[in-house]
Amino acid sequence: MSDPAKLLADIRARIDRAARLANRRADSITLVAVSKTHPAEAIVPLIAAGQRVFGENRVQEAAEKWPALREAHEGIELHLVGQLQSNKADDAVALFDCIHSLDRPSLVTALARAMDKAGRQVPCFIQVNIGAEEQKGGCAIAETPTLIAEARAAGIPLAGLMCVPPVGTEPAPYFALLDKIATSEGLTGLSMGMSDDFETAIMLGATHVRVGSALFGSRA
Ligand SMILES: *Cc1c(COP(=O)(O)O)cnc(C)c1O
Repeated sequence: MSDPAKLLADIRARIDRAARLANRRADSITLVAVSKTHPAEAIVPLIAAGQRVFGENRVQEAAEKWPALREAHEGIELHLVGQLQSNKADDAVALFDCIHSLDRPSLVTALARAMDKAGRQVPCFIQVNIGAEEQKGGCAIAETPTLIAEARAAGIPLAGLMCVPPVGTEPAPYFALLDKIATSEGLTGLSMGMSDDFETAIMLGATHVRVGSALFGSRA
């Protein structure tokens, strides 16, 4: 096992370097440490090393792990990076500070209702199915402008666009395409880049990189 503080420092140095190459400020990039499948004991050392923004992909798992961690540590920000079922919208709005997976009209309705009910505004990224993959979550590119308009009309605060490029392909063209769509829609946030490609994503404008295995080790 590597030292978590050292792994974190290494990722931060790589983010800084990519930002410098792109002539961007490193503090314009948020590192979301994706802790899915990893227990609290693996998360606490990263919090101790200064990390505050974490990502989970399942509502149930986050509900089991994070209330106690939040109780014990100041300033935690929790992001949902996985698919969300409409019937879990209330739980998601209560638990998360940001949702990266808004990808369909029924979820716009459910989240808007949940935010109204809770009196709590949670910024959302619209997830785009950037590689037009059959089985993947995310809104089709052609339907993205309509979904953005619907989310805006429903009063959902939009953080930007999110994507997961197809596995095993060069991700850069997909990152560039997501940036292009965001710009044309007047959105500035870009949630893109994971352990294997976050530096490329930063060069292409990522504002949020979602890094799991490079920080926590591989998942079982
Ligand atoms: C698991 C996951 C990540 C992190 O993936 P790594 O390759 O482990 O860095 C990022 N984004 C989403 C949507 C994920 O599900």
